[in-house]
Amino acid sequence: MSAQKMKVDYSYLKQQFADSGPILKAMKNQLKRCQFTFGPEMIEFEKRFARLIGTTHAIGVGTGTDALFLPMKALGIGPGDEVISAPNSFIATTGAIVATGARPVYVDVLDDFTLNPDLIEAAITKRTKALLPVHYTGAPADMPKIMKIAKKYNLPVVEDACQSIGAAINGKLAGTFGIAGGFSLHPLKNLNVWGDGGVTVTNSAQMRDKLLLLRNHGLHGRDEVDIFGYNSRLDTIQAIVGNYLIKQANWITNQRIKNANKLDKALAELSGYITLPTRKKGFKHVYHLYMFYAKKRDQLLSYLLKNGIDAKVHYPIPLHLQKAAHYLGYKKGDFPVTEAQCKTIITLPVHQHLTDSQVNYMIDKIKAFYKK
Ligand SMILES: *Cc1c(COP(=O)(O)O)cnc(C)c1O
Repeated sequence: MSAQKMKVDYSYLKQQFADSGPILKAMKNQLKRCQFTFGPEMIEFEKRFARLIGTTHAIGVGTGTDALFLPMKALGIGPGDEVISAPNSFIATTGAIVATGARPVYVDVLDDFTLNPDLIEAAITKRTKALLPVHYTGAPADMPKIMKIAKKYNLPVVEDACQSIGAAINGKLAGTFGIAGGFSLHPLKNLNVWGDGGVTVTNSAQMRDKLLLLRNHGLHGRDEVDIFGYNSRLDTIQAIVGNYLIKQANWITNQRIKNANKLDKALAELSGYITLPTRKKGFKHVYHLYMFYAKKRDQLLSYLLKNGIDAKVHYPIPLHLQKAAHYLGYKKGDFPVTEAQCKTIITLPVHQHLTDSQVNYMIDKIKAFYKK
């Protein structure tokens, strides 16, 4: 057991970009052409991303939020419509719905933090226009069940796969079940760039064509406007970073899974104090967040922080109880599973640059906390 204090940071960006030579070289190369929008590097990144996820099309956009917002706009979703989603996600999921003018309608989640499919049908109304499940923490939502409901009610599904590059159910990747899947390239996502970026994947040529217009002012060529759109493109410069990192995508995923498996094994010994979320058979979890349930959560959190471990809570306040969501009319008790989770969840660093001794140190400290 290590007695001395270690640092276990949440962010790994400095290590990730310790060797920035190849990226800067590619950027310098681009400076000879200065194609800052729609450069060949962006097209190359889109091709690589589509290959990675296994879709026919990948469309680079400005942010992960836009990667969800734009396909909903493409589906014609707007004021008066409802979109069903989860109350425990990062705010951007709901933000994308609200940006279309539609109303977010929440459904409670399972113990693995994904949408409870058994509660979806009761939330469907005449106004429901889409389902927006979240592959939250990197765990795939139960897409086979969700797609069955979607078919029954003839509803399109847009997947929030922002945290879930490489997640899969029996080999089929997150983001490929619905009409479109949105991914984020934000610096703290599993695959990231030097700022903001996002990608929407789809197998529908119609959806692709609509997204290509929507992300670029609705412009058809230089002078003709087919529809009113937005300005949301993946910058060439960011695509250069994406092209560098996408080669590491499988390694990143595997390292995170390795770290998570080690934590799972050790923390399972603390039953009574710690509960791990269900790890569904055949579901590939890519551990964007390594999250579990802890007794005395707040004390554990401060103990870990005091000992140099950058633990976090994602998130203490559910979406339906946020001030911004007040107009939706939800109240405490509406989503009991989500609300209970907010009080006991804790997130540990699980990133690909953790060393074995850092993982062991986290395990030692958590055991020491509960032994007291
Ligand atoms: C990060 C994230 C988003 C939004 O991505 P940005 O790139 O930050 O706009 C959406 N949904 C979830 C679940 C996320 O984690």
